[in-house]
Amino acid sequence: MQNLHLKRPLEANKASQYRGRFAPSPSGLLHFGSLIAALASFLDAKSFVNEHGQQGKWLIRIEDIDRPREQQGASTAILRTLEAFGLYWDETELYQSTQSQYYRDILSSLSKQRLSYYCQCTRAEIKAIGGIYQSHCLNTNHPPQNSALRIINRFGLHQFNDLFQGHVVCDKKLANEDFIIHRKDDLFAYQLAVVADDIAQGITHVVRGCDLLEPTARQLTLYQTLNNSFLKCNTPLFGHIPLAITGGGYKLSKQNKAPAIDNDRPQPSIIAALKFLGQSPKAELHSASVEELIKWAINNWQRSSVPKVVEINID
Ligand code: GLU
Ligand code: ZN
Repeated sequence: MQNLHLKRPLEANKASQYRGRFAPSPSGLLHFGSLIAALASFLDAKSFVNEHGQQGKWLIRIEDIDRPREQQGASTAILRTLEAFGLYWDETELYQSTQSQYYRDILSSLSKQRLSYYCQCTRAEIKAIGGIYQSHCLNTNHPPQNSALRIINRFGLHQFNDLFQGHVVCDKKLANEDFIIHRKDDLFAYQLAVVADDIAQGITHVVRGCDLLEPTARQLTLYQTLNNSFLKCNTPLFGHIPLAITGGGYKLSKQNKAPAIDNDRPQPSIIAALKFLGQSPKAELHSASVEELIKWAINNWQRSSVPKVVEINID
C-alpha cells in the first residue's frame, strides 16, 4: 500500500503551487460546453503566479474508464483540438484506463478498514423507497459477485466554498448516502476514479462544469475518508462554471449532438467562450492570432466576472 503515497508529486503540498486539470471523457469530440470547461480551467491555472514567478500547471486526464461509452479516436481528437485552441498542457496526459491497479489498491484498503460494503439493491428498489439509498446492505454479507461496492459515508459533507459560485450547499440527503465506488457491472465508479486521480496528479484546483456540483459533496467525503484512513491527501479547491444550455433546455453535450468546434477557426469559439465566462475580449481581438488571444485571456482573467448563475441559455 506504500506505493499509493509515492503517486503524489511532492510539490503539490506546497501552498504556493497551483495544479489544475481538464478531465474529458472520450465519449465524443469536444463541443462548446466542454471547451468552456477546458478554457476556464486553463485560464484559472495560467493566470496564477506564485512568489517565484511560476504560473500554475494545467494537466490533462483522459477519463476513459467507461469503455462501452467510449468513441473510437475521441481522445486523440480532443487533444488535437486543445492544441489547435492554444491550450497546451504540462506533463504527460494521464489515461484512467492505465490506473486500474491503483484504484483496486484503494478499494481493497477501504474494504480492509471496513469502510465499504457490498450492495445488491437494484435501481428500482432504491427508487421505490424514495430514491435515496438507506444503507440497506450495510450489515448483510453479500458476496462481491453481482454486487456494487458502497462506501460507508461517515461525513456527509455537503457545503463548500466554490471559487466562482461562492458558498454552495448541496442536497443533504444525497450527500449522506453511502454511494457507489465500484459498480455492479465491474466498472470503477466516477467518484472513486476522479478523486483517486486528482490525488495522484497532485491537483490543487478543480475547475469544471456546474453539472458536477452535487458530485462534489461526495468527493469531499471521499477525500476526508481517505485522508483519515490510509491515503494522506489535501482536498483541492473547487470552482464550477455555468453550463451552456441549448434552446431545448438540455445541457449542451455529446449526447444531444452539439456541433463539434472548428479546429481551423478557433478564434470565434474562443471569443464566444470568453464572453460566456463573463470576460470582456476587446473587438480588436477578433483579428488576433490564437496565441495572442490566449495570452490576452490569461492576462485579463477575472474569476469574479464568471457568472454566478448555474444555467445560462446560449441560443
Ligand atoms: N470526465 C468528466 C466529464 O467529462 C469530468 C470530470 C471532472 O471534471 O471532474 O464530464
Ligand atoms: Zn443495498
